[in-house]
Amino acid sequence: MRVVDDVADFVIVGTGAGGATAARVLAGAGRDVLMLEEGPQLRTAERPAEVLDAMAMAFRDFATSTTRGSTPLPMLQGRCVGGATAINSGIIWRLPEDVRDEWIAQHGLSHLVERRALDDAFDQIERELEVTETSTALFGGNSERMAEACRVLGLPGQPMTRNAARCKGSARCLQGCPGEARQSMDVSYIPRAQRDGARLLTLARVDRVLIEWGRAVGVEGVLLDPVTRRPVAQLRVMAREAVIVAASAIQTPVILRRSGLRGMVGERFQAHPGCAVVGRFDEPIEMSHGATQGYEVPLRDRRLKVETLALPPELLAPRLPGAGAAWQSRLAEMDHYAQWSFICRMEAHGRVRPALFGGGSDAAVHFTPTARDMERVKDGIGLVCRMMFAAGAREVFPGIGELPSVLKSVAEVDAIDRATLRPQHVNMITSHLFGTARAGSDPRASAVDENLAVHDVRGLHVMDASVFPTNLGVNPQHSIMALTWVAASRLANRSLHRQVAA
Ligand SMILES: Cc1cc2nc3c(=O)[nH]c(=O)nc-3n(C[C@H](O)[C@H](O)[C@H](O)COP(=O)(O)OP(=O)(O)OC[C@H]3O[C@@H](n4cnc5c(N)ncnc54)[C@H](O)[C@@H]3O)c2cc1C
Ligand code: SF4
Repeated sequence: MRVVDDVADFVIVGTGAGGATAARVLAGAGRDVLMLEEGPQLRTAERPAEVLDAMAMAFRDFATSTTRGSTPLPMLQGRCVGGATAINSGIIWRLPEDVRDEWIAQHGLSHLVERRALDDAFDQIERELEVTETSTALFGGNSERMAEACRVLGLPGQPMTRNAARCKGSARCLQGCPGEARQSMDVSYIPRAQRDGARLLTLARVDRVLIEWGRAVGVEGVLLDPVTRRPVAQLRVMAREAVIVAASAIQTPVILRRSGLRGMVGERFQAHPGCAVVGRFDEPIEMSHGATQGYEVPLRDRRLKVETLALPPELLAPRLPGAGAAWQSRLAEMDHYAQWSFICRMEAHGRVRPALFGGGSDAAVHFTPTARDMERVKDGIGLVCRMMFAAGAREVFPGIGELPSVLKSVAEVDAIDRATLRPQHVNMITSHLFGTARAGSDPRASAVDENLAVHDVRGLHVMDASVFPTNLGVNPQHSIMALTWVAASRLANRSLHRQVAA
């Protein structure tokens, strides 16, 4: 294979929430930046309307990668320019205060989450990414019904805040936003960094960081064929100042462990798994209209967050119970279904390792929810079923293997409360992944320090969801971007001082 060589001051691996923000800040400060992204650049016009085609193009492994443990748990990840932000719903949440307090008290992170710096970063990101509350005009039937359920049951529901001020309510965030209303990284921070001089190399998979005498000097990997995704060239990029690994909480520890790092790298994996409940209403709901996700109910004390989640017909159809003519008649009522999901702030920890079989960025992810986590999942399913009935649903499909697939009255929800739920009984899925290179002041209990610099390796930083010492209980992209903003700004300043001193 031919060898492609390059060099930059800062080499950034991955262009998701963390990597793109690092590029935005460093290039904006006049630094020389090269971004390396394993996935392709997908222009808006090329994004397919059908979700299965979108998964083939933009998701890692066609969205089929799962955790190992008591039951496989699908993990959704983006693999394209913009990472998971290119396929997410644009939900924006600041770091919750209780999480910030915990990170300071238990992980010694007062410098990283220093209030003024963090608030300034949140403010700036919100301005630049057009963050605004979802208007009722964009609710569609799905969010309108959840707002109604909250009114009836007295739940603290609210419109979602999202980075999509120009949203037209096409309910297809998973496939990519057709009008570039949603300010995912591929249409916001990456082009902005490029305008400031940063370079982007796509289909460039980094396999390891080159470390010499305790210092990261560059990365090596391969360039991939756009169709077959097989390696077509070797890649070697040297970093004059620093390597920033931002390849996600699953791929970052794979790269770091392949580079010889150990300790807490790949340990303490955490997630927000969740599941969804479908309800059938007499009147049309039309999930194809409105924001994909527009309304939410944060319930921090129950470690749950309930959200509307519009599904395209090809993903909704398999959720409908029955077979043959009965299933066909349900299919004919496609417009009458609402779907609401919840994420659970699970206490379980797992670990991530490079896969023994396969190679490149393939990972083995071990994760098993605890019994307490499953009690919370049961609480979530029961709650969402009751909300559906409160909003007027005629039938509710709770999606629990051991229980009836169709509930016809709210009294039947009590059976869920009495059940002992095991992970094998429900279809959980997770897209919020954290913790595999956690930040902390104690090198024995963390992988990176308060500047997100790897302990004991100079010139090596991690800037993505891996650095979270705990999960959050809310949607994470804003916190990933803000922590990166703070750490990358400080890195840019230090580099400037070094240059001036030299
Ligand atoms: C379907 C979905 C919906 C979501 N909805 C929301 C939401 O509405 N709000 C919210 O806050 N969060 C949401 N999330 C979560 C959020 O998008 C992620 O937490 C966030 O994007 C993670 O940022 P990151 O920088 O850690 O990694 P990512 O955004 O995953 O980016 C990592 C990048 O690194 C690249 N990469 C990986 N390995 C390599 C390698 N070896 N070499 C080169 N490049 C590599 C990947 O291709 C990817 O582009 C959602 C996630 C998904 C999947
Ligand atoms: S609902 Fe449609 S228009 Fe709105 S942000 Fe999502 S993809 Fe874009």
